[in-house]
Amino acid sequence: MNPILKVRDAQVSYGRIAAVHGASIEVSPGTMATIIGANGAGKTTLLNAAVGLIPATGHFEFDGHALDLLDVEDRAEMGLCLVPERRELFGTMSVEDNLQLGYYVHRRQRGRMADRMADVFDFFPKLAERRKQQASTLSGGERQMLALGRALMSQPRLLMLDEPSLGLAPLIVQEIFRIIKELKAAGVAILLVEQNARAALECADYGYLMETGEVTLQNSAAELLKDPRLAKAYLGGA
Ligand code: ATP
Repeated sequence: MNPILKVRDAQVSYGRIAAVHGASIEVSPGTMATIIGANGAGKTTLLNAAVGLIPATGHFEFDGHALDLLDVEDRAEMGLCLVPERRELFGTMSVEDNLQLGYYVHRRQRGRMADRMADVFDFFPKLAERRKQQASTLSGGERQMLALGRALMSQPRLLMLDEPSLGLAPLIVQEIFRIIKELKAAGVAILLVEQNARAALECADYGYLMETGEVTLQNSAAELLKDPRLAKAYLGGA
């Protein structure tokens, strides 16, 4: 099966700093890939380059179409969606209004908004309970759910999640990972960036390790979990 996202030899620099140099990854439809790696390895930079937020060289392809000449809006239109690490919700707006914004990211909307929102509330019953509440009053886990829900409003074909577990208590992290698995089961391809390597590999199909701007290891998630090169530095093992 052709990959939904194909990145070949990506290079991104911030001034003279080469944050990503020569990274290649692929995500297949209906699967979950993860990029793990330490702080500063270039994971966020690679996601931002894929959605078109920062300029990059190399080759980026989505569903067989070259992305190089397309801007952020065009890429979103194709179904490429990033949930950023900071979640970027509108704190003074209600849950419902934040979700609506996710629906309007496309120039041409797909289906009725009420149907989209009903689907999101099926996934996240907590958000339905809090639909009129201001986003800033939600707990950390609920805010992450809202960020995921807002992304789902645009019916993405590939959902890229940057550190969805960041700053959340362990039980809430489990809940978020359970939801991410459900999203995959519902047919959304997922690219998960995580510092929490064990949790990410336990739910992904395959993974990439990034170190100082390069992909240094790639394999099925099951093999990576057993890989001695990961055990000590990334999986907390001996
Ligand atoms: P984190 O988990 O901390 O987000 P990461 O693996 O996602 O880490 P990036 O945020 O992509 O790593 O950062 C890669 C490198 O690029 C780091 O050395 C970082 O300091 C640098 N960097 C990131 N953003 C900028 C920026 N806006 N300007 C200059 N350097 C940057």
